[in-house]
Amino acid sequence: MIEPMQTWQQALSDLITDPRELAEFLQLDPRLDPIGERTLGQFPLKTPRAFAARMEKGNWQDPLLRQVWPSHVEQLAAPGFVADPLRERNYNPRSGLLHKYQGRVLLIAAPHCAIHCRYCFRREFDYRENSPSREQWRKAFEHIGSDASIEEVILSGGDPLALADAQLRWLIESLAQIPHIRTLRIHTRLPVVIPERVTDGLLDILASSGRQVVMVLHCNHAREIDHAVATALARLGGAGAILLNQSVLLKGVNDDAETLSALSKRLFAENVLPYYLHFPDQVVGTHHFAVTLERAEAIVRAMQAALPGYLVPRLVREDPGAAAKTRLA
Ligand SMILES: *Cc1c(COP(=O)(O)O)cnc(C)c1O
Ligand code: SF4
Repeated sequence: MIEPMQTWQQALSDLITDPRELAEFLQLDPRLDPIGERTLGQFPLKTPRAFAARMEKGNWQDPLLRQVWPSHVEQLAAPGFVADPLRERNYNPRSGLLHKYQGRVLLIAAPHCAIHCRYCFRREFDYRENSPSREQWRKAFEHIGSDASIEEVILSGGDPLALADAQLRWLIESLAQIPHIRTLRIHTRLPVVIPERVTDGLLDILASSGRQVVMVLHCNHAREIDHAVATALARLGGAGAILLNQSVLLKGVNDDAETLSALSKRLFAENVLPYYLHFPDQVVGTHHFAVTLERAEAIVRAMQAALPGYLVPRLVREDPGAAAKTRLA
């Protein structure tokens, strides 16, 4: 099932998109956790084959499977869970640009991802409205260029590393022409889910930016990191990128201190520091991942007691209108 010599582009165009195929590969009977056909239609399954290969066969509770399985429970009513809990539309001064916090802006650099995480807080985001043309990109660059308080640009998405190298190079070169930009930050799940994405070409694009590069990975469980991922991370670190990780606290995936401590240690072994642990936003279709605040705080306290401070991620939540993410615990 895994083609060892696949390029990242081949892997990206050969995703598992049929839940029945995923269930069959994992030797699971899809009738035991029926597919939510309506939410599947709105937010399709997407899973790289290399990611599926890290799942345990025959185990419905596999923490990697739970992140991608389009379960019928998404379709159950859940009061308080809405399409845009962060009211991001209020901070959208240009198509594709979110300027919410002082000193840094976030660009929706790519309209798509290599994987669809069922808990995604942007699963309802209107990427069609936020897939700028080059002309609209120029307006975003003008907004950044005209505000010298902006020192950092965050490429987010979607997943910016799902872009082809030529498009990514153009974006980064354009940003590197703005003198007050000191830091380029990339929020990405690709080095974890398709580690072949870390090519010589990508390392060259990052190095030639002449800026400090911070890569914030997204990994929720130690089992997501295999040998190929470790190699990709070593190459990124070797090229000078500062490597951080953000996770989402997810019921049934990583909602206990042992699992998250193992993740922190595994990341650190690959020279990645834990950054954020997101208390999940109340996005429609994600209520089955919800953890109570009391439980979240207890998990972080247990991690603080067991780990050096730099291996304890900051538990945060986004509150609409706040000047930064809210620190919990
Ligand atoms: C999270 C976020 C950032 C980055 O915040 P940091 O605390 O610097 O990681 C910037 N812009 C938006 C819109 C965000 O949601
Ligand atoms: S990779 Fe990130 S943006 Fe894409 S679906 Fe997963 S959580 Fe959402």
